[in-house]
Amino acid sequence: MEKATATTKRPVGPRRGSASRDAHSRSPDALDASLVIGRPTARRTARLLSAWFASQGRSFAWRIADADPYGVLMAELFLQQTPATRVDAFLPHFLGTFPDLDTLKVRPIRAIADALKALGLQNRRSIVLKNLAKSLAGKDLRRLSLEEWKAQPGVGPYVAAAMRSTLHGDLIPMIDVNTARIFGRYAGARTVVDLRKDKTLRSAAAMVVGSGPPRVINWALMDLGAAICTTRNPKCPVCPLRRDCQRVGLDECPR
Ligand code: SF4
Repeated sequence: MEKATATTKRPVGPRRGSASRDAHSRSPDALDASLVIGRPTARRTARLLSAWFASQGRSFAWRIADADPYGVLMAELFLQQTPATRVDAFLPHFLGTFPDLDTLKVRPIRAIADALKALGLQNRRSIVLKNLAKSLAGKDLRRLSLEEWKAQPGVGPYVAAAMRSTLHGDLIPMIDVNTARIFGRYAGARTVVDLRKDKTLRSAAAMVVGSGPPRVINWALMDLGAAICTTRNPKCPVCPLRRDCQRVGLDECPR
């Protein structure tokens, strides 16, 4: 099982003292780039996310621990470019036409592309799926390690993490643009261009995910990014993370 690799630098979230006030009084770009989440904050955050997910989280066919790994894999690949609600509506049809890797492997790319038209992914995903089916032929998807997943064609760090987290409950944060945005706001603005590659944010995410049921925390973060901590006009007044979020009080995030 993957271990959380978070560091334990000074906690920033729970304190409403000088550091927090100072952060709120400056522009986001001036925030201390070394800020990370301490363990008490991570535990509280995980509790809040769990509770929020229990009442507000979404239920999808691929969010089941004993779900068919092939179905989870297809869903996660589609989710990279498509909203979850569309994938939810599309997936049963796709799995009915291509029920397993063997079918994907032997069917022509044109047939796969035709099926993917409904999501507009025919050009980007059909060849990827074909190559992936060839690469995974004969493999037990439940037994692939994180590194083995990452080595598959078309499977990046996010899908690899999603497979291990969903199938095994591993302590691996699923970092996509949405969760990167949440942690970028929550733990303090960063200076790197791609937040998914920010090691400090990845550490903060690992600590939070490792402080609760990892699957649930990952799913809660996904749903929070879709419903509350949106790209524009985040709904901070109803956000479960507002107590510790470094953005509260700044321009886009009113108290
Ligand atoms: S308080 Fe606002 S900015 Fe912070 S995590 Fe919640 S929605 Fe995002």
